[in-house]
Amino acid sequence: MPTAIDVFAKVRGHERAEQLRAAREADLLPYFRRLEGPAGPIVEMEGAERIMLGSNNYLGLTADPRVQAAARDALDKYGTGLTGSRLLNGTLDLHLELEAELAEWMGTEEAIVFSTGHQANVGTLGTILGPGDTVIVDSADHASILDGCLISKAKLRPFKHGRLDRLEKMLGRAVEDGGGVLVVVDGVFSMEGDIAPLPRIVELCKAYGARLMVDEAHGAGVLGARGAGVSELFGVEADVDLRMGTFSKSLASCGGFIAGSHEVIDFLRVSSRAFLFTASGVPAAVGAALAALRIIRSDEGPELLSRVLDNGEYLSRGLESLGFRVVRGEPAITPIVPVLVEDDWKAVLLWRALYDAGVYVNVAIHPAVPPGGALLRTSVMATHDKAVLDRALDAFENVKQKFESEHGALPAPGA
Ligand code: PMP
Repeated sequence: MPTAIDVFAKVRGHERAEQLRAAREADLLPYFRRLEGPAGPIVEMEGAERIMLGSNNYLGLTADPRVQAAARDALDKYGTGLTGSRLLNGTLDLHLELEAELAEWMGTEEAIVFSTGHQANVGTLGTILGPGDTVIVDSADHASILDGCLISKAKLRPFKHGRLDRLEKMLGRAVEDGGGVLVVVDGVFSMEGDIAPLPRIVELCKAYGARLMVDEAHGAGVLGARGAGVSELFGVEADVDLRMGTFSKSLASCGGFIAGSHEVIDFLRVSSRAFLFTASGVPAAVGAALAALRIIRSDEGPELLSRVLDNGEYLSRGLESLGFRVVRGEPAITPIVPVLVEDDWKAVLLWRALYDAGVYVNVAIHPAVPPGGALLRTSVMATHDKAVLDRALDAFENVKQKFESEHGALPAPGA
């Protein structure tokens, strides 16, 4: 009888797995590095102290005693997990309070909390879109957006990052095709740190009758006077139909949300598979996110926001003055300060040199960025003080000289 080929055959000799193994053997793997202490501005990592320039803990609230106490209180009161879906035995007063306060913060009728941000995107796009619809995305949108679109079986139309002329063409074609049309963009792009030009995108969506969803993962807690994200920064909150956010950045926890109209959120509550068929966010995570949100919305919020953005500006200018090419977010600075390297291998070598010099950064190589777009994604926190950033800049300066003499020039500013 004929038998199936081994479904595991593809994992043997897989190019990516081989690259991973070779890099690990050479101790050049920038991924899966072990943290050995709290995720602060300076961390213990693999036996050494390193300046953390690779965290999304933008406001530093994972170390805030009030956020930690809220997590502990939730743990004490409700235990370690809820062992069930939000639909059944997995809803706490904490989930409901968090949803109500998120909706207030976002200025929407309602919000729904998912167990992760990834699930929020997948569980929303996979539910709200269907075959016959068209979803238009920026090519630099987060992977979870793509996953949700693919699950939905809607027609997926990516436009080249930032090219609104192409977005407009796609909108025209989508309308001709019939079916519903949704445009989905990241508010702040996670690798490049730049900001979606929402006012023009809103205009285009209105002109063509399309709905708009904005992923505020990296904008919420950072941009806008109330920290409500890029939609607030541009004053287009009322024109964005759905706003997604995550707790795994400024909100110092784990989980995600979608904010929007009663109608849509109620529909998701009873139809979203990524909401219904998974365990709800654990009490400690929900308690921590709620406490962090309350801090951001308190009188302390604006000070925290201005500190993280000021640090972003400081690091960005510092790196530029050392001769690095920084991809600067326009029109506003964000906490994400990407240093362009272009070549994947050079990015890994530069990462290693910085790591040895006591600075941890994230490496983004293809497919996380387009081919030839390798970068070191550095990011700052409100809790970095200038002396620590100066130490990091010193390390960059020292490493650059030696690196360029051995491996050739790095991209220069404005080149
Ligand atoms: N959207 C964006 C833009 C992100 O950067 C991320 C996480 N890096 C997510 C969604 C997913 O969020 P989470 O980590 O909560 O799953």
